[in-house]
Amino acid sequence: MPENKLDQTKLEQIQKDLLNLKSNILHDIKNMDADNSAEGQGRSDSSVGHGMHIADAASEMYDREFSLNLASNDRELLQKIEESLKRIEGKIYGLCVRCKGPIPYARLKALPYAENCVKCQEELDNGRKPA
Ligand SMILES: [Zn+2]
Repeated sequence: MPENKLDQTKLEQIQKDLLNLKSNILHDIKNMDADNSAEGQGRSDSSVGHGMHIADAASEMYDREFSLNLASNDRELLQKIEESLKRIEGKIYGLCVRCKGPIPYARLKALPYAENCVKCQEELDNGRKPA
């Protein structure tokens, strides 16, 4: 098993970053809910086309869908963060979940919830090219 180069100090810093990220996301989700109930945020009718009669309904639906998508992205991220925190507790943080190789510290610093090493991430990205 390759040695994990993260020392305790770095690990604690990353754990702190993850907890910060987590509270930011929770904060965002809360704000988003508040925005939605107060008043529909930024209308984007232009992207819906020419449906004159249903424009309002469509844009409302678009807004809602948009928020839902955002929320589900946030939730996905939140889950990754939770899993990273669990990996820290389980002392397996910093290892690629795919090949079990070490993830470079620079990558973890930039993306503390990264769960794949660069090589595996590239392979994954190549495997699911957007249609
Ligand atoms: Zn890997």
